[in-house]
Amino acid sequence: MPIFEFKCSECGHVFEKLFRDSNEEVTLQCPQCQSPHLERVISRVSYQMGTRGKGPKITTKSCGPGNTCATIEIPGRYD
Ligand SMILES: [Zn+2]
Repeated sequence: MPIFEFKCSECGHVFEKLFRDSNEEVTLQCPQCQSPHLERVISRVSYQMGTRGKGPKITTKSCGPGNTCATIEIPGRYD
């Protein structure tokens, strides 16, 4: 199950949202102040978890040996 991390633009509260199934429709809002204004927080965990199931598109940066860095884009998808 993919987990995405979000940060509230209004109060700065950071929370995780678990997408339980691929067809789930979610309304995202801050659990603290109910603001719908959120930013995605990209973490290693959400990157790995986010490779399965339908979810918002993820853009993350990956750096390998030899200082080669690539931007990886993972679209939400149906399994
Ligand atoms: Zn908030």
